[in-house]
Amino acid sequence: MNQRINRSHYRPGSSKRRQQYFLHRLPLIIIIVLLLVFLSVFCWMLGRHFLGKDTPPTLHSDPQTSETGASGPAESPSDIEIFTEPDIANAPIDSLLEDAGRIAAGYDYDRAIQVLQTSEYYGSDQRIDEAIAEYEAVKSTLKPCDISQVTHVFFHTLVIDESKAFDGDADEKGYNQVMTTKDEFLKILDSMHDKGYVLVRLHDMAEIAATEDGTKMTRKSILLPEGKKPFVMSQDDVCYYEYMEGDGFATRMVIGEDGKPTCEMKMDDGTVQTGAFDLVPILEDYIQEHPDFSYKGARAVIAFTGYQGILGYRTAASYSDSPTYEQDRQTAAAVAQCMRDNGWELASHSWGHRDLGTIDWDKFKADCDKWDNEVRTLIGPTDIILFPFGADVGDWHPYQNDNERFRYLKNLGFSYFCNVDSSQYWVQIGTDFLRQGRRNLDGYRMWMDIVAGDDASKRKLDDLFRAEDVFSPNRPTPVVWE
Ligand SMILES: [Zn+2]
Repeated sequence: MNQRINRSHYRPGSSKRRQQYFLHRLPLIIIIVLLLVFLSVFCWMLGRHFLGKDTPPTLHSDPQTSETGASGPAESPSDIEIFTEPDIANAPIDSLLEDAGRIAAGYDYDRAIQVLQTSEYYGSDQRIDEAIAEYEAVKSTLKPCDISQVTHVFFHTLVIDESKAFDGDADEKGYNQVMTTKDEFLKILDSMHDKGYVLVRLHDMAEIAATEDGTKMTRKSILLPEGKKPFVMSQDDVCYYEYMEGDGFATRMVIGEDGKPTCEMKMDDGTVQTGAFDLVPILEDYIQEHPDFSYKGARAVIAFTGYQGILGYRTAASYSDSPTYEQDRQTAAAVAQCMRDNGWELASHSWGHRDLGTIDWDKFKADCDKWDNEVRTLIGPTDIILFPFGADVGDWHPYQNDNERFRYLKNLGFSYFCNVDSSQYWVQIGTDFLRQGRRNLDGYRMWMDIVAGDDASKRKLDDLFRAEDVFSPNRPTPVVWE
């Protein structure tokens, strides 16, 4: 029977006993309470006497007040605030509104409204209703973008230390042609942001979906406020190749303390620093600062070859003798997953940086299979390929099923195919593929715009930025293509 005596059986008796106990001890309790009140008043007065009037400066954010010290007579109005409790009740609502505001700034008004409506504070604060009304109002003004006019810009690894990249050694010419410096990249971002560009994913433009006519590549709707223009960004060869060591580039990608992808770089004194040393963390920081630059959390497409591994880890089979080989493969895979989790799209750039349009069929197949075995196994499934040298597997006509290279890539899971094209935009949507031309925003292209002067027909970048305003003064000129 004893086992059955649970808390509900026990309570009534216990409560009666507690009542008697309480009455019996009442005088003592009153004395203790009075003593506590007296003691706290005493402490408060003591505190004021010794520490001066503005004792808890944490309630004031004005640094001048706390620096000028206790004696300043001008601080008397703040006396009242000192003992006011911070507005704890409003803090969660403030942060809720801030979260929703951030989501809405990235044009995801539906989700912002949903976050507010499903919150426990919904209905308890007028500001929540006002925010919802505001997002509904903005939503009704959005315009669908023309998917066939989405431009796509691309970069290589960014030059961080220009004095090392442009130091006159044998690699200088290549860097000067195809690389962009960190400062140039930041200026490009500012210009594009000012012009209303908004970063979108390839998968925001169109997606393979089931339709009445079967499964096919289907246009999607990108809704943006008037004056905003969607664009796609990609970065090729994010492998931190061996030849780039000591030339002013990041050395590898890592997961930062905040859980976001960031970079490591070897410094002159031999130390390794972590920071925004390449496009991924730099763009991430930029979007944190300018959430209206990214549509629904979009980030860039990051493409890998395989012959020296990915992300600065020597993960190719040819490095399997390295004592850290297995660890490097695991770390590279974890960093790739971290990138996916943070909105980055990952892509193939072929295994051996080959011209997939013209190499022999056998070599074509071998390269595709090698990428599939060595890189896809690390980064997970992807349906995007960015052709090395921009060399497509077909001409401008839509891919046909008798194009065996297209079919081979399609069977490996690719549905998005990007070549290089200097025109403002080139988008082709077929039954089961999307093709897009990409524009190189590098030293050579900028120099071409600069030497074109006022000849608008030869200037290719003015819709994005003025090359003269961006081109680094540290670059050797002229920038020639040989
Ligand atoms: Zn490349």
